[in-house]
Amino acid sequence: MSRYRTLDAIEVQGKTALVRVDHNVPLDDGKVRSDLRIRRSIPTIRSILDRGGKAVLLTHLGRPKGKPDPEFSVAPVARHLEHLMGHPVQFVPAVTGDDVRRAVDSLSAGEILYLENVRYEPGEQTNDPDLARTLASYADFYVNDAFGTCHRAHASVVGVTAHLPSVAGQLVRAELLYVKELLANPRSPFVAVIGGIKISDKIPLMRNLMSRVTTFLVGGGAAYSFLAESGLSVGGSPVEPDLVGVVSEIRAEAKQAGVEIVLPEDHLVIGVDGDKGRSWVVDESIPEDASAVDLGPRSAVRYAQAIERAAEVVLFGPMGVFEWGDPFSRGTEAVVRAMARCSGITVVGGGDSSRAVLAAGVESSIDHISTGGGAFLEILGTGILPGVEALVAAPTEI
Ligand code: ADP
Ligand code: MG
Repeated sequence: MSRYRTLDAIEVQGKTALVRVDHNVPLDDGKVRSDLRIRRSIPTIRSILDRGGKAVLLTHLGRPKGKPDPEFSVAPVARHLEHLMGHPVQFVPAVTGDDVRRAVDSLSAGEILYLENVRYEPGEQTNDPDLARTLASYADFYVNDAFGTCHRAHASVVGVTAHLPSVAGQLVRAELLYVKELLANPRSPFVAVIGGIKISDKIPLMRNLMSRVTTFLVGGGAAYSFLAESGLSVGGSPVEPDLVGVVSEIRAEAKQAGVEIVLPEDHLVIGVDGDKGRSWVVDESIPEDASAVDLGPRSAVRYAQAIERAAEVVLFGPMGVFEWGDPFSRGTEAVVRAMARCSGITVVGGGDSSRAVLAAGVESSIDHISTGGGAFLEILGTGILPGVEALVAAPTEI
């Protein structure tokens, strides 16, 4: 991976940092429902304040279509950050304009200013140079700690780096260290667990990991495109028909590379009518009137054993519809609990996967839970993130 600078390389005292965070978190009735991304951004903010700097924070939230929309205001997120940090957070309900300028100018060392949703600006997603210049004018240097947005070439992620010395924050750094660990320094046995609903999202990742992993354990909706490809009946289970050809190629590549692809040998199913009140276990072949919603118990044990013995495990996607709760969460729980017991390096990618880890209460026994989602998939699939490349290319002095 290319070389980028980090926050410790910057003299912070008396300076203003523009910190792009990814506080794009789920809100319920104006309350933050899951605050992992907010919590993980705090070390970088503290590092700036503790060293006598000033922090101007910027995030996006949802998709407000380039104009103000109260539904996507980040005011509740700013309040939540204030609560978590036990430190005042001054919120200005704008991204540009006189109010922002005044607030930036009157900021003192050790203070936090939180701006409104950067996607209220039409120039954010188009990486408009004028918006980038305006954002850069608030600060002496730029910190990218928005790992989950690093796959987007937006004004506050890429554009600003043309105008300021730019560094990676601690979260981005931690995420990239794990990516490097997985890609450049794989340990055997290396088990990659592929689940979730869309196998197409995970194909580039499987290809890029092919030369590195020992075993792919495939579960969740992803498994059914593989089972369908091998000619088994999958009933009403989710299959991406366009991908059957790609699945054949993946299998051939795995054979060539000596990588084992493990598929479920039993399944928890419900009827195609979708009635969750009636579920049962079937063997490998799924009846026409049923749809698989989780690993069966034998598969869950088999997957857990393979995970526990691994030197390195990475999880991409739940093994079933875990959000429906018991019994539909059993396969996913077996997998995340086995990861928690594993003495090797354990990494979780994907938003739903990380929710499953939190739901099982094993967060503290996992080495790294990525906040990245799409960004994590992209860098593991291609080795490149625009937001990180921009840091490498940024000026070191202005
Ligand atoms: P991640 O966010 O961890 O990358 P995905 O977004 O790819 O994971 O997939 C998560 C979703 O996959 C969950 O909402 C879960 O309900 C769904 N899912 C998993 N297995 C199945 C299945 N057998 N049938 C339908 N949906 C499934
Ligand atoms: Mg998801």
